[in-house]
Amino acid sequence: MPKTVFQKIIDREIPADIVYEDEICIAFRDIEPQAPVHCLIVPKKLIPRISEADAKDDALLGHLLLTVTKVAKLTGILKTGFRTVINCGVDGGETVPHLHVHVLGGRSLQWPPG
Ligand code: AMP
Repeated sequence: MPKTVFQKIIDREIPADIVYEDEICIAFRDIEPQAPVHCLIVPKKLIPRISEADAKDDALLGHLLLTVTKVAKLTGILKTGFRTVINCGVDGGETVPHLHVHVLGGRSLQWPPG
């Protein structure tokens, strides 16, 4: 299977504006930001989408959610608030088949999403 664009970022084959990295995940700014701050948190383990994670991934999934707060702090949106999104499948708007958590903030976000 060809590498996803996110795997290429993890492997430093293409550039990204990285805001955080540890042994389990990497976080970088979205190339088409939908808010003043828009980051993606991507596990280094390839899980195509949240619906394909299983019980073995429970610690990894918890780590991704705990990383949300770190990324919000690093990007200056912890106090003002933010939204965390995981798109899944066609109707969910998923375009990159490598699990990722969106972190959006820096403006007042509308609800419900379109
Ligand atoms: P999703 O639609 O939930 O699969 O989100 C995929 C996101 O990846 C989109 O918001 C894209 O703008 C973003 N994206 C695609 N390629 C890159 C890239 N090379 N660097 C940063 N973000 C990217």
